[in-house]
Amino acid sequence: VIQAHDVHKSFGNLDVLKGIDLTVARGEVVCLLGASGSGKSTFLRCINHLETVDRGFILVDGRLIGSDLVRGRLHEARPSVVTERRSRIGMVFQQFNLFGHMTVLENVILAPMRVKKETREVAIERAVRLLGRVGLGNKQDSYPGHLSGGQQQRVAIARALAMEPTLMLFDEPTSALDPELVGEVLDVMRDLAASGMTMMVVTHEMGFARQVASTAVFMSEGRIVEQGPPEKVIGAPDHERTRAFLGKVL
Ligand code: ATP
Ligand code: MG
Repeated sequence: VIQAHDVHKSFGNLDVLKGIDLTVARGEVVCLLGASGSGKSTFLRCINHLETVDRGFILVDGRLIGSDLVRGRLHEARPSVVTERRSRIGMVFQQFNLFGHMTVLENVILAPMRVKKETREVAIERAVRLLGRVGLGNKQDSYPGHLSGGQQQRVAIARALAMEPTLMLFDEPTSALDPELVGEVLDVMRDLAASGMTMMVVTHEMGFARQVASTAVFMSEGRIVEQGPPEKVIGAPDHERTRAFLGKVL
């Protein structure tokens, strides 16, 4: 689903990504670990083309998001094409970014109606099913401000799933939550992983990473230092930097 090759990204003279190579197969759950500032969020943002890559490339479902290869040359893709491709990548952030003036249901049906031009009926049918799946079947007419953080994050997950993504990106989805609300969000993510969704998750939840990840990737200073089965990377890391990081978060 993802093929990243030699991805470089700088902001001014700050080199944030210094040659990332990563392949993610269908159904895989990759947990991305690393210290603050190591480039995890930037890499996720490059995957769905919220940031452009300076060097190297990222293919999602075999295609570049922002450009097309036409007769051996790269051309910038039309904005509508970029939107369509990006819509197949769900993203969930630390801050839930729900629209506060819309009900839960309206939040979930918005993108399918706007981007996929679905009818309201079709969008509502799926939204109701997805809200049930994340355990919020009884909250569809509530406003986000009246929900707990864990409930809001589950709405954000349902909203992302409403676009029927082939890939879900999570950037520290539980970091803004009170400790007692973390579990309910991780449970939803665990179910999603079990259903076969391809996922890339930036998280400091080592228990989740150990249980759910097929691969753990440790980043440091813009590079992948170590990757492999979580029991290896988290349980018996080879690198001093990985050990130092784990010593702080475990
Ligand atoms: P954290 O765990 O704190 O979320 P991270 O691994 O996600 O860290 P990034 O957010 O990718 O790290 O940031 C990596 C570096 O890039 C940081 O030094 C950050 O300040 C810088 N950076 C990120 N986005 C921008 C931007 N738009 N403009 C300038 N610098 C940026
Ligand atoms: Mg980040």
